[in-house]
Amino acid sequence: MINLITYTPEQTIALGKKIAKFLKPGDVIALSGDLGTGKTTLVKGIAQGLGINKKEVNSPSYVLIREYTGKKIDLFHCDLYRLNNVEQISFLGIEDYFDRRGVFVIEWAKRAGDLLPDQYFDITITLLGEKKRGFKLKACGIKYQRLIDKLKVIVK
Ligand code: ADP
Ligand code: MG
Repeated sequence: MINLITYTPEQTIALGKKIAKFLKPGDVIALSGDLGTGKTTLVKGIAQGLGINKKEVNSPSYVLIREYTGKKIDLFHCDLYRLNNVEQISFLGIEDYFDRRGVFVIEWAKRAGDLLPDQYFDITITLLGEKKRGFKLKACGIKYQRLIDKLKVIVK
């Protein structure tokens, strides 16, 4: 597990870019945290790290799943905030994305319950002050433990 704090949106974007360095096609990142904690901001950083123009990336709340073409790896970004039950979420077919050649990032991921894959990268953001945010990066599965071990070296 990695715990760290950012003090500005720019630092959160920088963290996203660092995370992106270690991502591989098929990776799934589950984001949790209240509204306005910085989930979408982190995704912007991940997108930048994958070589996607940052202006493109916005909250997918209404579209549900957005797809972006990266330099080598694509990004699928979805937000389950407006979906209240697993039935609605299963209609989205998020499982179909897990095998595709892209990174799949899910905001409000806990709402997906059992639809989440066996292994995923679990990131929880907590509001600690006006601009202060706590990040808890946790591996669910050995694949993400390896990612965390590599990430630790460059974020600490
Ligand atoms: P969420 O997707 O979790 O609802 P957003 O990323 O859309 O959150 O919004 C986060 C808001 O908080 C933005 O307005 C951003 O500018 C602001 N903010 C302030 N400090 C930070 C920080 N350290 N990290 C991320 N966002 C921050
Ligand atoms: Mg958001």
